[in-house]
Amino acid sequence: MAEYGSEEEAARWVATAATSPHVSGDAVDLGRSQARAWLSRHGAGFGLCQIYENEPWHYELRSEAIDHGCPRMYADPTEDPRTQQ
Ligand SMILES: [Zn+2]
Repeated sequence: MAEYGSEEEAARWVATAATSPHVSGDAVDLGRSQARAWLSRHGAGFGLCQIYENEPWHYELRSEAIDHGCPRMYADPTEDPRTQQ
């Protein structure tokens, strides 16, 4: 909230404990690593997709990606319907 100025604005960018897929175990953040490079090439086959263009470290479980590929990325979390209150 200090960074975004208000709880409302912060919620557009950062999921709360109630909405974060990290809390439910459906998301993972990776440091700069070969693992991140590997996931960007092979993650879809395991249902793991980058969700936001501006967060190359954040992957989420998208089991439909195994058959259909990853969905189009959101530019950033403000486009994600899950962060729109
Ligand atoms: Zn994340």
